[in-house]
Amino acid sequence: MTTATTTHRQHFASDNYAGMCPNAARWFQQANGSGHEPAYGEDRWTQRVSDALRELFQTDCDVYFVFNGTAANSLALASLCQSYHSVICTSVAHVETDECGGPEFFSNGSKLMLTEASSAAGKLGKLTPDAVEQLVTKRSDIHYPKPKVVSLTQATELGTVYTVEEVRAIAAIAKRRHLKLHMDGARFANAVATLGCHPSDITWRAGVDVLCFGGTKNGLPVGEAVVFFDRDLSEDFAYRVKQAGQLASKMRFISAPWLGLLEDDTWLLNARHANAMATRLHTAIKAVPGVEVLHPPEANAVFAKLPAAAATALRAEGWRFYEFIAGGGCRFMCAWDTPEAAVDAFAADIRSACAAALTGR
Ligand SMILES: *Cc1c(COP(=O)(O)O)cnc(C)c1O
Repeated sequence: MTTATTTHRQHFASDNYAGMCPNAARWFQQANGSGHEPAYGEDRWTQRVSDALRELFQTDCDVYFVFNGTAANSLALASLCQSYHSVICTSVAHVETDECGGPEFFSNGSKLMLTEASSAAGKLGKLTPDAVEQLVTKRSDIHYPKPKVVSLTQATELGTVYTVEEVRAIAAIAKRRHLKLHMDGARFANAVATLGCHPSDITWRAGVDVLCFGGTKNGLPVGEAVVFFDRDLSEDFAYRVKQAGQLASKMRFISAPWLGLLEDDTWLLNARHANAMATRLHTAIKAVPGVEVLHPPEANAVFAKLPAAAATALRAEGWRFYEFIAGGGCRFMCAWDTPEAAVDAFAADIRSACAAALTGR
């Protein structure tokens, strides 16, 4: 067992603990090497990445870049809502639990209306068409915040993944009820890697209007793309971005690294690796006495309950992980750069910490 808190170079708290991947770093350097460039997104790099994203999704979408996922979600939702509207999402949605009221703030008060995240096997952490339908049809009077948007997270906060059919089913009810469909894709890459589908199959082809495409957790230094498949909805979005303080003047340093992700399917390779490391960790700890895996990983996170003393011991050994996420238990998140050796070392420490906790030593 290791003892010093500084010995681990690798952690399992979040995929945003990782640095930038080599491909992203290379394009970051190239953007720097191009000398002076027009500011505020008028540069050649931003143009190139926007075109590359249109090519990736095989459709003529509108693309914007912001610094982080909270801004991406908040501003995207604000663009879909009037202040008297509401957004349907689960009670564990990042927009509800981890954005400090950003979506409500930027929309001037649009209310988030929560469904319980499904606890059914196979639907864990997800919205279901029935739950959406229930909220929409509950009331139709003027005193009820008018439902306008459905927001789903792909992959979900519980590390599960909506199938293509599930996204389509949510989109179908949204369409029937005249709701827009927003996707929080902070871990969109991990979901696509799991499903093995084309990225358009779980976005515009399924009925998603706006995607917040996460790059940070996939290997970028910073920056998320807001992708409007329904281009009418992006009217004046640039002003929103600017007003919110999210318009990077040297935008090329956010956009150019995206070229590194998109080149040679690096985004998918990064995601596949992170997912594989979660599977490896799950396999290594699922039968360890004292460990109760809450559900098998579908993307890059493992959720498990450990004896309290074991969690404390692991922390004392310097491992970092979260315990407050979504359904409870410990969340072990793998990243694009998590080495097999780190997974194995962590699993070994979990095993001995649990053994010690169970025998009271
Ligand atoms: C990380 C994350 C975000 C973005 O968070 P920021 O810290 O604002 O970049 C959004 N949604 C989900 C589900 C996330 O996990």
